[in-house]
Amino acid sequence: MILSASVLGAGTMGAQIAAHLANVGIPVRLLDIPPDTLTPAEEAAGLGLRSPEVRNRIVRALFERMKKLSPSPFFTPEAARLVTLGNTGDDLAALADADWIVEAIPERLELKQDIHRRIAAHARPDALVTTNTSGLPIHQLVADLPEERRRRFFAAHFFNPPRYLRLLELVPTADTDPALLRAFTAFAEDTLGKGVVVAKDTPGFIGNRIGCHAIQSALTLALAEGLTVEETDALTGPAMGRPASGTFRLCDLVGIDIVAQIGANLAAMLPDPEDAARFRPPALLTGLIARGWCGEKTGRGFYQKSKPPAGRELHALDLATLAHRPALPAAFPSLAALAKTPDPAERLRALVADPGAPGRFAWRHLSDVLCYAADLIPGIADDPAAVDDAMRWGYNWELGPFEIWDALGVAATARRLADEGRPVPPLVRDLLAAGHTAFYARRDAQRLAYSPRVRAHAERVTSPLSLSLPLLHAAGRVVTRNTGASLLDLGDGVACLEFHGKMNVIGEEQLELLQTALDHVRRDFAGLVIGNQGPHFSAGANLRQFAAHIESGDWDAVGRMLLTFQTATSGLRAFEKPVVAACHGYTLGGGCEFALGCDHVVVHAELVMGLPETGVGLIPGAHGTKEMLIRWTEGIPPSPDPDHLAGVQLAWETLAKARLSSSAPDAARLRYLRPGESTLLLNRDHLLGEAKTKVLELARHYRPRPPRTDIPAIGRAGLATFKSTLHQMRLGGYITDHDCIVGARLAHVLCGGDLTGLHHVSEAYLMDLEREAFLGLCGEPKTLARIRHTLATGKPLRN
Ligand code: NAD
Repeated sequence: MILSASVLGAGTMGAQIAAHLANVGIPVRLLDIPPDTLTPAEEAAGLGLRSPEVRNRIVRALFERMKKLSPSPFFTPEAARLVTLGNTGDDLAALADADWIVEAIPERLELKQDIHRRIAAHARPDALVTTNTSGLPIHQLVADLPEERRRRFFAAHFFNPPRYLRLLELVPTADTDPALLRAFTAFAEDTLGKGVVVAKDTPGFIGNRIGCHAIQSALTLALAEGLTVEETDALTGPAMGRPASGTFRLCDLVGIDIVAQIGANLAAMLPDPEDAARFRPPALLTGLIARGWCGEKTGRGFYQKSKPPAGRELHALDLATLAHRPALPAAFPSLAALAKTPDPAERLRALVADPGAPGRFAWRHLSDVLCYAADLIPGIADDPAAVDDAMRWGYNWELGPFEIWDALGVAATARRLADEGRPVPPLVRDLLAAGHTAFYARRDAQRLAYSPRVRAHAERVTSPLSLSLPLLHAAGRVVTRNTGASLLDLGDGVACLEFHGKMNVIGEEQLELLQTALDHVRRDFAGLVIGNQGPHFSAGANLRQFAAHIESGDWDAVGRMLLTFQTATSGLRAFEKPVVAACHGYTLGGGCEFALGCDHVVVHAELVMGLPETGVGLIPGAHGTKEMLIRWTEGIPPSPDPDHLAGVQLAWETLAKARLSSSAPDAARLRYLRPGESTLLLNRDHLLGEAKTKVLELARHYRPRPPRTDIPAIGRAGLATFKSTLHQMRLGGYITDHDCIVGARLAHVLCGGDLTGLHHVSEAYLMDLEREAFLGLCGEPKTLARIRHTLATGKPLRN
């Protein structure tokens, strides 16, 4: 059980790892070295190297630097309180308090060996020690320590930034206790939310070996094929199922010097000269580094943004002349269309079948990556699936190399290689010879992966909480569906309403399917989960449908759609069986209002939740405004003269300023989540399983909650306060005239309308006000302009 930790080295990785441990509630001591020289200011203040304020100067500065990173390594600023700073000169004895000690000091063998000796002198015998090394031989770091220490040591290699990148590579040595590794894997998956792969002790482990090879392969081929920087990035970005940064832009972001350094390290450590040659930084990289063009951090690399007064124009490097020139628009127009094909397998098949330059590059590059990955099994990992997991979690590839083999067809790809006179990797030959056609197979709703050791497909060990909607679809567990949503049978009497479509926006189709779903649940299930496994829970209501009705002046249709939406979200708690939402990513607007209506909400820690309707000139109209009033005014201790204004003001501010959460704990702070009605999970794969468990738990004694009739409404007195606040803000130039109109309508609902003094009102009363305000705002031309702008650009318009 890991209840406390120490991190040694407070640099880029150590400080952020400490932050993530604090995020999950683990108190952590963060140590760096004490300074060996005084700053002029310290000297002037008469301080010495032994002065307490000097001893922690380095760790303090690094910790403060980390706190300023954006996006933040902390879920909330308060989490920083769990981190205690110290230095290796004074505080090593405190290592005895730690259940887990993380070493994240610079990548130098002697330095790491020395610190592990010092750790061993202070750590408790039952403490677990890990190193964050990116590729030093793990066993050498602790070679001279006693066996009891070596049993409790392995590499736990986080990727940068540790809060956000899901991959954690665990690299045991021959001495590592397998039971300890298994227990730590469960801890890393459940508590830290990591995707764990177990790698072998080889240079670059899995992620950096395959990832770095892919970068070098794309660079080399781009030069050979005479492609431009923009063309290569367009090819190796979303069209190929990789992040939009492609290859050259990725180098700029990581730092061209860092990319070259990782390659050089790998080249130095790989025993096979041919393999090592793949990683030696090409002249293109070393040439740019020599000019000081290391990418974004130096302002220039493969791309350069010109600064005003010339305007913010993007320039790209001409790979032949090494001069920057204006970036060329839309390289290979066919790729833009391809990138929109939602199924990555279909996209890749189309790409390599293309007869032109894009297809030629794609095939040469992908086949290079696929063969290299296949040749590294079992060298870097026993199972191909570990490589796929590593590339999806660490490099954000949509499909890992072996999933790409399957997408392109293993036999067809092997044939194409053979036709070109290229060797087919032994792993692939074995798979085909054993009568298999793919690296993955399915049995009912289980995914099986090919195990080269037994030459057969085996079930993957996953948590019972891991459910996969795509596999449930494939296994025929769809109860009913339409174009906007599906109802699936999760098993054990629980159904799941899954939204589909772009950003899972909620419109007429989704609302229609909800009604059908509730009929099914009423008849055949114990309760309902609302959730999906797309990138986001839901970006909100389908604004396009609202805009179409507004533009055609069909106010009846707008009113009907709003009433249907509001009835759906607010009615969930009145439904006779429990409804639990499972939310992750964007949970906005109408999506958030769905969650606000559920009996319970299971959330992923990475949650952008909120009600940003004012940004499009509206207010939350599907019970969101009413819910926020309830949530911000509840919990006030009873008194003859309770002060509700402060709560109403906070509700108004949250909505008027369209405050969105930066994490699940932040969403709780903003009262989008209620304690006792929400469960926070770090591991996104467990969301639906946990929501299902919650439904079954609630179903045992379920009683729908009667709507409230005692909500405080402060009436006129509150309205006067908001009127004056809006007037001041307008005078100060902080808001526009239209913001004033929207802010006033919002205040009208939150104060319960024009009431004389404090009244207690019903949910239905507030929802009537909500709809009235919403419909009034729909009639404002500036609201329509905001909606149109957001639909066209994805950004808010301030008019
Ligand atoms: P860094 O240089 O940013 O930080 C290392 C810190 O360790 C420095 O603050 C240094 O003062 C401190 N230090 C040096 N000797 C120490 C000692 N004896 N005791 C305590 N602290 C000491 O390095 P980093 O980028 O954070 O890398 C740390 C480790 O993580 C390395 O092994 C690196 O290979 C690995 N890693 C780095 C990244 C990355 O993106 N930076 C990613 C994954 C893994």
